[in-house]
Amino acid sequence: MKRVIVIGGGFAGAYCARHLEKDFSVTLIDNKDYFEFTPGVLRTIVDPAHIRKIQVVHSHYLHRAEIVIGEVTEVSKKDVTVHGKKHPFDYLIICSGSSYSAPFKEKNIISSTRAIELRAVHRQVEKAQNILIIGGGLVGVELAGELCTYYPDKHITIAHAMEELIERNPKRARDYARAFLSSHGVHMVFNEMVSKAKGNKFITNKGTKIAADLAFMCTGIVPNFSFLEKHLKNVLNKRNQIMVNEHLQVNGYENIFSAGDVNDRAVEKTAQNAERQARVAVDNIFALEYNKPLETYIDKKTPLVISLGKHTGIFVWNNFVLTGFIPGIMKTVIEKEKMFRYRF
Ligand SMILES: Cc1cc2nc3c(=O)[nH]c(=O)nc-3n(C[C@H](O)[C@H](O)[C@H](O)COP(=O)(O)OP(=O)(O)OC[C@H]3O[C@@H](n4cnc5c(N)ncnc54)[C@H](O)[C@@H]3O)c2cc1C
Repeated sequence: MKRVIVIGGGFAGAYCARHLEKDFSVTLIDNKDYFEFTPGVLRTIVDPAHIRKIQVVHSHYLHRAEIVIGEVTEVSKKDVTVHGKKHPFDYLIICSGSSYSAPFKEKNIISSTRAIELRAVHRQVEKAQNILIIGGGLVGVELAGELCTYYPDKHITIAHAMEELIERNPKRARDYARAFLSSHGVHMVFNEMVSKAKGNKFITNKGTKIAADLAFMCTGIVPNFSFLEKHLKNVLNKRNQIMVNEHLQVNGYENIFSAGDVNDRAVEKTAQNAERQARVAVDNIFALEYNKPLETYIDKKTPLVISLGKHTGIFVWNNFVLTGFIPGIMKTVIEKEKMFRYRF
């Protein structure tokens, strides 16, 4: 059997390992021992028991694949190094995703430690009176939604460098998010970047002082690429994303693919797009094996659900926007459906 190595057990990597393990000798390498439904992490900040609903250990949903828990430190065109040991491959799929500030994404951790850490964050939230969210993109807005609906008495501020919240979305969605948060007492500071912190004071580049006993950084993703620097630096673009062709093959390598947040496809970096790309990478490995034409990955806008607490949300698909209760519960339904597929 040909050997396939999958780096990363997030949305893209978990999909690839599951769909290849029957036909190939698959090794999934991840620096955590579990798959986590990242969109559900924001709820755990206000409800730490929610963690049980959004995690599943890799060994539960993978039945044949070998699972290696550890950090990939080097990748060459022939093998992958973990804990100093080289793992040779016939095919490699790089799904190392992206990093986000703690506690939203964590590396080198096991599921039980993750639960303890999230409970500690929850205790800090319970104690804090003034909470600052730095960044008003999708994550910042959803976090504000969770916090202001669970804790109506806390003072929550979003500081955003842009003119509007979730600025890449249609106007109706932007206006709804702003009006919802405003009506729940969230204070918003626009066109300013937090540049300094002195004790409990955060100071923006325009000199505004924001008092906060707890701050969350929601300022965007950084690709996980460092293991490529030694042998395959030439596949990285200026933003350290992996350059791939239309079949999701890493530039210059027929047998190396990349899917998800870590590659340079110009799409919104979402779980849904990570899985769409993973499906194409999997199909193309089969296509190479059976001498069939390769599938082309087409970038397209996929539907997005933005939750504002447990019962309200925004559904966006191109210019169509639906707001209120139905999109609010959509996220919970998506989470349950996804976790059901991984558990059973
Ligand atoms: C707080 C938050 C909320 C979000 N909400 C939504 C949402 O509502 N809807 C949506 O569609 N998307 C959402 N996203 C985005 C979504 O989570 C990502 O697009 C998705 O996780 C990307 O999947 P991935 O498989 O490419 O990478 P990741 O999920 O980042 O997985 C990468 C995996 O690789 C591992 N890894 C990295 N480097 C190494 C290494 N050197 N060695 C071994 N393992 C390694 C990581 O530990 C991780 O397990 C959200 C993201 C965040 C942070």
